[in-house]
Amino acid sequence: MLAPRFDDASFARGRPRGTARHPRAEPTAGPHRGAPALLGLGLALVTLGASGCATATTHTSIGELEVVTLREEHANVHLVRGPRGSFLVDAGLPGSAARIEARLLELEVDPAALRAVVLTHGHADHAGGAPHLRERHGVTLVAGRGDEGMLAEGRNGELCPTGRRARRRLEGDRAARFPTFAADVWIAEETPLEPLVGVPGRVRVLPGHTPGSLVLLVGRAAFVGDLFRGAIVGRSAETHFYMCDLEDNRADVRALLDAAPEVEVFFTGHFGPVTREAVEAWLDEAS
Ligand SMILES: [Zn+2]
Repeated sequence: MLAPRFDDASFARGRPRGTARHPRAEPTAGPHRGAPALLGLGLALVTLGASGCATATTHTSIGELEVVTLREEHANVHLVRGPRGSFLVDAGLPGSAARIEARLLELEVDPAALRAVVLTHGHADHAGGAPHLRERHGVTLVAGRGDEGMLAEGRNGELCPTGRRARRRLEGDRAARFPTFAADVWIAEETPLEPLVGVPGRVRVLPGHTPGSLVLLVGRAAFVGDLFRGAIVGRSAETHFYMCDLEDNRADVRALLDAAPEVEVFFTGHFGPVTREAVEAWLDEAS
């Protein structure tokens, strides 16, 4: 899949920062540069010439946190760096695990020092790389209890395509396999995040995309996995490629917006991130 047209973002209230790199595509190139574009409530994105990069790195500052989104193929792995350590949200495909590991080292993050890997759900492109990180570095794996069976089987569960793109991928995604594993910590109800990863916040259980899907709420940020996705090109929020009950999905997103009015930016499992305004616009359009 194509990468979106921007690969560096800052939500530091109109103060774009950071650079984007494509470590393997252009190992010796300097940082890409682009003109900042204001988006909604003073949020700023730096638009960069990233089209065609299967791999991209996005840096986003949110208060005292830095989120580094590592895109491998079409799946996002989010490195969240806080004052008391770092953790990952999702782990990518099994075949991406060694590259994610290398990219962490490039960022001077010791994988063994990660507080945990929190899996938003048990699909291959989010959970598949997790066993590698635990086997090699002893990282604690956290997942939703409802996805225990999926992880034990090492395969995606029921997949309901929502459009042509997913229908074309359906057979491959149904056939996908990943190493079977059990999480070290299972989340079955709303849980404080700080004891798990050292950052204040909460983990909510939000079944729908899978039975054990989780959403992490961390200050002004939410990590939503595949509750919805970012656009392939542009900055809108979109219905995810796979969702069995669209009405229920949108009701869940509305309820999440209401329950977490402090959240301004949503980190998605694919493409993104997207702003609250973009999520509201998608809901309005879909209703
Ligand atoms: Zn998924």
